Amino acid sequence: MFNKILIANRGEIACRVIKTARRMGIRTVAVYSEADANARHVRMADEAVLLGPAAARESYLVADKIVDACKRTGAQAVHPGYGFLSENAGFADALAANGIAFIGPPASAIRAMGSKSEAKKLMGKAAVPLTPGYHGDDQTPALLHKEADAIGYPVLIKAAAGGGGKGMRLVEKSEDFPDALASCKREAISSFGDDHVLIEKYITKPRHIEIQVFADTLGNCVYLFERDCSVQRRHQKVLEEAPAPGMTLERRRQMGEAAVAAAKAVGYVGAGTVEFIANQDGSFYFMEMNTRLQVEHPVTEMITGQDLVEWQLRVAAGQPLPLAQEQLQLRGHALEARIYAEDANKGFLPSTGRLVRLSPPAESLNVRVDTGVEEADEITPFYDPMIAKLIVWDEHRDAALARMRKALADYQVAGVTTNIDFLSRLVACPAFAGADLDTGLIERQKEFLFPATQAVPRDALLVATVGELLWEQHEAKQAAKTSGDPHSPWHARDGWRMNLSAARMIGFRDGDSLIEALVRYQGDKWQITINGQTTLARGKKLEGDRFAVELDDRRLMASVVAVDEKRSIFLNGSTYSLLRDDPLHLVEAGGAQGGGLTAPMPGKVVALLAQPGQKVDKGAPLLILEAMKMEHTITAPAAGTVKAFCYAAGEQVADGAALVEFEGE
Ligand code: ADP
Ligand code: ADP
Ligand code: MG
Repeated sequence: MFNKILIANRGEIACRVIKTARRMGIRTVAVYSEADANARHVRMADEAVLLGPAAARESYLVADKIVDACKRTGAQAVHPGYGFLSENAGFADALAANGIAFIGPPASAIRAMGSKSEAKKLMGKAAVPLTPGYHGDDQTPALLHKEADAIGYPVLIKAAAGGGGKGMRLVEKSEDFPDALASCKREAISSFGDDHVLIEKYITKPRHIEIQVFADTLGNCVYLFERDCSVQRRHQKVLEEAPAPGMTLERRRQMGEAAVAAAKAVGYVGAGTVEFIANQDGSFYFMEMNTRLQVEHPVTEMITGQDLVEWQLRVAAGQPLPLAQEQLQLRGHALEARIYAEDANKGFLPSTGRLVRLSPPAESLNVRVDTGVEEADEITPFYDPMIAKLIVWDEHRDAALARMRKALADYQVAGVTTNIDFLSRLVACPAFAGADLDTGLIERQKEFLFPATQAVPRDALLVATVGELLWEQHEAKQAAKTSGDPHSPWHARDGWRMNLSAARMIGFRDGDSLIEALVRYQGDKWQITINGQTTLARGKKLEGDRFAVELDDRRLMASVVAVDEKRSIFLNGSTYSLLRDDPLHLVEAGGAQGGGLTAPMPGKVVALLAQPGQKVDKGAPLLILEAMKMEHTITAPAAGTVKAFCYAAGEQVADGAALVEFEGE
């Protein structure tokens, strides 16, 4: 076994690998960019090497720098995690040339599966069932169009080098094909540096079912059952589970054997995943093989009781697979939810900022949290905005679902917008709870999943008000302690005001509405009147931002986190957001959004979609910005005229930069 390995990755997967290595007595080397100098994976590793600037292109993606870091630290092997260089055959070659082991498959297997087109050709030969479509070399647009017509619409255009749900376009009818092809190729070039595409029949109401395979260098190859990853948004996985609901023993064996055949056809070694698209009747087609550890591998670990990173390390060190096929057993049910810093109600727009509050549910045998960040860390615009993976296990799916519901309710995050509320609705949604799964579930259930924003409930408003009052008291006490005369009446915050009645107003903003809480001091209690209704309240500040609150004859535990004028209220498993409306603070009413024509985050202008001087309707697309690995379309805030664009296509823009000079009608 190795004495020391280097992890060529960051975030939760780097931390995940370090954890197993440490348990096995292997020393670890982290690598990091300038933006990650203080990141959790750097803090966890035995040593760490700086690679370069924040941009992955100049740090995590530079193979030479990683080879160099291995030489400097004496690391004998590299674990690539997922993403970054994990499926880069050139990187595997570079390591081999320097006598460093790659904890992954041989470069030849990565190459064979690296192109979805080439992989399909190979799989066809190995008699693995394929999604009907065109995966030839001729890339003439007219020919591709003809092939699409022949397959019959809807079709899916896919970048052969694509991944992560990017570089895919659904085409519903023939006349839409040319535009979709152009846009797909544009994204493919910018994201993967290769615009080769394939075309597939678009399967309606399919399920995504994948098989975990593992092979060693001695010729053994097994499958560790399946994962169902049907719950997706924009072809990206959101919730995964194992086993797949409704899977029969016979179908599991068929898919498992097809996956092992796929792995054997390319001389596979290590952990891999063969992805299938399945019809509701259970018939299935090969989609692609991912030649690395998957994000969702923990659900497989939970149902098999195995540590897949340990398996990877053993195989890379030349040892045989720890278990044979007939020794592998499947037990219970596991679910994984990806906790992201993103705004589900704004098209899943990534959110960046400091994790002022990050309090995950308690871990146990049933609840696991894989994360790369801790409270006070930052979600930066440079990398994937995943905060953590929340994994739960129980004997049956229903019990696992209940655990997931509870764990999501206990998850507290403030400082960035997260998808936690969205995930809570997802697991509560009858279609998901009833295992009526297909890749269109989120779209189909959107009414339930994206409800119109609701007013913050009265209890949360009362808690927020009590929070302000307790906070003032706390600050007054702190001030008194440090001033000369702790008993001076000037430090009291009991509502006593010279020439003023003992009543005051505390204001909040909930979206567009102003909420005024009238507070009257009554002994050690407060009479709080909101919307004409009065509640007698009392509160006690516990440690940090936690409060015990009494509202009339009820007692609640709550937490309020304040960042500038923002207030996040955690109450009964829900999070509510308010703004403190402080007349003493000069807060620009409505904010300075500038009509939405500013960059929502740092990124690159990909395309200008209008001409200067052009008159456009409200909502017309003006410009495409690529940021955080996604394309965002900037649209006209109103009917009007495009005066000028501030940047040309290809230029980088900073967060908040004005993009378009626009004149409304
Ligand atoms: P990526 O490399 O981005 O993971 P995949 O080929 O694995 O690309 O496809 C990602 C997702 O897109 C699948 O999980 C599935 O939801 C959807 N998808 C892919 N191919 C098809 C298809 N032929 N018909 C319908 N949906 C598909
Ligand atoms: P303590 O002084 O008890 O050590 P800490 O400094 O650990 O408290 O925690 C203070 C927390 O209280 C911060 O996280 C802050 O967000 C929160 N807080 C809650 N309500 C308010 C408020 N109205 N004004 C300022 N901070 C608040
Ligand atoms: Mg895939």
